[in-house]
Amino acid sequence: MEDVTREKSAEIEFFTVKIQPFYRESTMVIQKDAEATLRGVKKLLDESNEIVDKIRTLKSDRTQLQPLCGSLRRRLICCGKQNCRCRKGQLHGPYNYFVPSKCRGKWQYVSDKELEKVEQGVADWKKQRKIDADIRALSLRLKEIRHEIGSLVPSE
Ligand SMILES: [Zn+2]
Repeated sequence: MEDVTREKSAEIEFFTVKIQPFYRESTMVIQKDAEATLRGVKKLLDESNEIVDKIRTLKSDRTQLQPLCGSLRRRLICCGKQNCRCRKGQLHGPYNYFVPSKCRGKWQYVSDKELEKVEQGVADWKKQRKIDADIRALSLRLKEIRHEIGSLVPSE
C-alpha cells in the first residue's frame, strides 16, 4: 500500500517536473504560431483588399477613355499635279495623318480641327494599354495571395 502511494507520488512528481513545463511550453509555441499565422493571413487579406480597390479604380478609369488604336504622323506630300511647285521639291504640308495599328498602310488624313481629338484618342490608347498591363500584374498578385493564404490556412 505504501509502495503504491510512493509510486504514485513519484509519477505525479515526474509529470509536474518533467512533462508539465514542456506541455505548457509547447502549447505556448502552438499559440504563438497561430498568432503569427493569423497576422500573416490578415496582412495578405489587407493587401488583397487594396489590390481589389486598385483594380476597381483602374477599371473605372478605363471606361473614361476614348482610345484610338494607332499613332499620329506628320507628312509632306506631293499632290501629283503637273507644273505644281511640289514637283520641284517644295512639298505640301506637313499634314497630319492617323495610322491605325491594325489595318496596316491605310493612313487617314487628320484635319487641324480633328487633330486635338485624335491626339487625345492616341494618348488614351496608350493609357489603356498601361491600365491593362497594370490590371494583369495586379490580378497575378491576387492569385499569388490566394495561394499564400491557402498554404497558411489548413483546408478541411
Ligand atoms: Zn503640289
